[in-house]
Amino acid sequence: MTSSSSHSQTTRQSIVACGQSVDIGAPVVLWNDKGGFNCPNKRGRESCSQHDPALDDAPTQPHKAYQILDPKVAYEELKQTVYQLILHYDVCYCSWQCHQVMKDSSFKGSQFYLDLDGTIYQTCDLYWKTNTGPSDDRIGNIRSVHVEMANLSWEALKEESDLYQVTGNQYRKINGQWQLILPEKYRDKLRTGDFKAVPARSHKQRGYFSRRVNGKMVRMWDFTEEQYQSVIKLCLGINRLLPKIKLKVPYDNKTCRTPLDRIKNFSKFSGVLGHCHIQGGISSGLRQKYDPGSVFNWSRLRKEFLKETRKTR
Ligand SMILES: [Zn+2]
Repeated sequence: MTSSSSHSQTTRQSIVACGQSVDIGAPVVLWNDKGGFNCPNKRGRESCSQHDPALDDAPTQPHKAYQILDPKVAYEELKQTVYQLILHYDVCYCSWQCHQVMKDSSFKGSQFYLDLDGTIYQTCDLYWKTNTGPSDDRIGNIRSVHVEMANLSWEALKEESDLYQVTGNQYRKINGQWQLILPEKYRDKLRTGDFKAVPARSHKQRGYFSRRVNGKMVRMWDFTEEQYQSVIKLCLGINRLLPKIKLKVPYDNKTCRTPLDRIKNFSKFSGVLGHCHIQGGISSGLRQKYDPGSVFNWSRLRKEFLKETRKTR
């Protein structure tokens, strides 16, 4: 199968929780679709009762062990107890690579991946918990669902790359336009054939943005326009499926922008947050987190949310 051939088929556009689905108007590949990614490390959600409780925080079991007993009851429980969507970058070239990283681990996973071309992969029913971001109170995954958005963050920079030890910047300016140069082995892994991963915005001559996140200066190129369009639709869709995930992002009325450090009320906040907002480390002994990084366009997301809430009011 080539990545481009499957794209011409009718594309699914719905996400799923306990058998309920919502059309979000963006391309979605489910775990059991052809070309889908099946979450390798699901866990039982302690706040829900429609599964074998032995699956809560137990080592990974075979896929068939994860059965939802009564989907109707399960959906009601899920709606009541899940109130955060957490945005991450995956420090990968593309979602295919992100999935390999999850598979190589005994505990990592995320309900969604968002690829460079705007394809959303849902890896399991939202009923299940994934260990994507414990947050400073260590129980954050119970109340949340997660999306890992393809972006290398500072690993794209020659001077800062430490995981991949890249020998040159991974973005290059071609005909006046910045572009992520995918290594050969990932080029056929996107659903859109020959996709050009162009950052939605670029900063002056150098292209990448830099801002301090939880004490660290984070330098990174922007997500693609396709990723922004899909993540906005994902948020709107999730809100319809799980309404306690409000169309709200952290916002500081004094500075009129979204802070990038861990927020005070992180465990109570109902809405869409970054991993950086829930995990500052230090007090909890967990590693501090910087994603979705310095560049993520929170104000664009917020504007879309305001537009939507005005419409439905
Ligand atoms: Zn993260």
